[in-house]
Amino acid sequence: MLELQDVCAGYGEGQALFGISLRVEPGEAVCLLGRNGAGKSTTLKSIMGLVPLARGRIRFLERDLQGLRTYQRSRLGLGYVPEDRRIFPELTVRENLEAARKSAAGDSRWTLERIFTLFPALQPMQQRPGGLLSGGEQQMLSIARTLMGNPRLVLLDEPSEGLAPRVVALLREQIARLKSEGLTILLCEQNLGFATALCDRMYVIDTGQLRFSGTFRELEANPEVKRAHLMV
Ligand code: ATP
Repeated sequence: MLELQDVCAGYGEGQALFGISLRVEPGEAVCLLGRNGAGKSTTLKSIMGLVPLARGRIRFLERDLQGLRTYQRSRLGLGYVPEDRRIFPELTVRENLEAARKSAAGDSRWTLERIFTLFPALQPMQQRPGGLLSGGEQQMLSIARTLMGNPRLVLLDEPSEGLAPRVVALLREQIARLKSEGLTILLCEQNLGFATALCDRMYVIDTGQLRFSGTFRELEANPEVKRAHLMV
């Protein structure tokens, strides 16, 4: 569904990705694991066209994304939940969701009702400004806004970051539910524990290069990869 081939990208003179190749198949949840500054966010930004490629190619649904703007990628069915939880703080929860509604290419149609079934905590808060929500509620709203665009594949950038353990556990269940409903997911995480229960396969990234690709079980059998490239 999504394929990166030999992707090199960065910021001006500073190259951050050095030949990243990865695949995500339909219905899979795949994790890109790595420490701070490893290149996870830059990988997602390169998929969305927010950083230019210096080399390599990215295909989504058999289509080369080269030359497509971010909104065009989103229309093709790529949903992006950035690390900084981009919601409108002045708008209410409901307005945030309605502003994000669009009829994109996805198969499943997201309605407010379906959103509140997945995130019941948001339902009684519909009239509350987004800026007054807790970190966990903002993360849920940020994911919910992306779902309102009916994506085929969602890119989730460290959704568990900075959240209390109880909220992290809840969020993991909600993402697992999305996966069980057939949504394809590429999740960036530092937190191996968060990814383990959710993901079919994982890639480990460090200093802009992939260091491992395989299942959680295979990673467990590779303590040197964990020691050298992850915070465990
Ligand atoms: P984090 O959890 O800190 O976001 P990450 O794995 O997502 O980590 P990236 O944000 O992709 O890492 O950063 C990869 C490299 O690119 C780092 O060396 C970082 O300092 C650099 N970098 C990231 N954003 C910028 C930017 N806007 N301008 C210049 N360099 C950047």
